[in-house]
Amino acid sequence: MEVLQANSYCMECRQWVTDGSKHECPIKHRALIDTNMSGVADRLYALGVVPMIAFYGFSNDADDTYRLRISIDLHQSFIHEVLGGLPRGWEYCRDDGRINSLEFNDWHSCFEEDADARVSEIIKEFEEFLDSRDIEGTRALTLLAGDQ
Ligand SMILES: [Zn+2]
Repeated sequence: MEVLQANSYCMECRQWVTDGSKHECPIKHRALIDTNMSGVADRLYALGVVPMIAFYGFSNDADDTYRLRISIDLHQSFIHEVLGGLPRGWEYCRDDGRINSLEFNDWHSCFEEDADARVSEIIKEFEEFLDSRDIEGTRALTLLAGDQ
């Protein structure tokens, strides 16, 4: 599993931050993410489930096929599943009983030439899932289920 092209992204401005010292937003609005994960980061941020790090990678199976994994570490931990039931392959990961990351583990493997298409497909599906969430309701839930 390797980190691919992770860059600093400001979710408040929806901009990539190339020089952190010149960007004025507080650091809490920034996430370290793969370039194709900005749509997911924007949507999670709007829902109040703020990501801190989001990247994908492939594990290499013995038969030269590849299996997609996506990991999204959250800025804040939650006691409840604030996004409700997640799409197939996704799960809430807990530490000490609190949800602090979201993970995707693909249920089938793909050949190297299909890997990019698989990433795009899964990311697009997850964006559509996030678009289907109710922003006000989810934000209210994150306040109740969050750190405070
Ligand atoms: Zn900013």
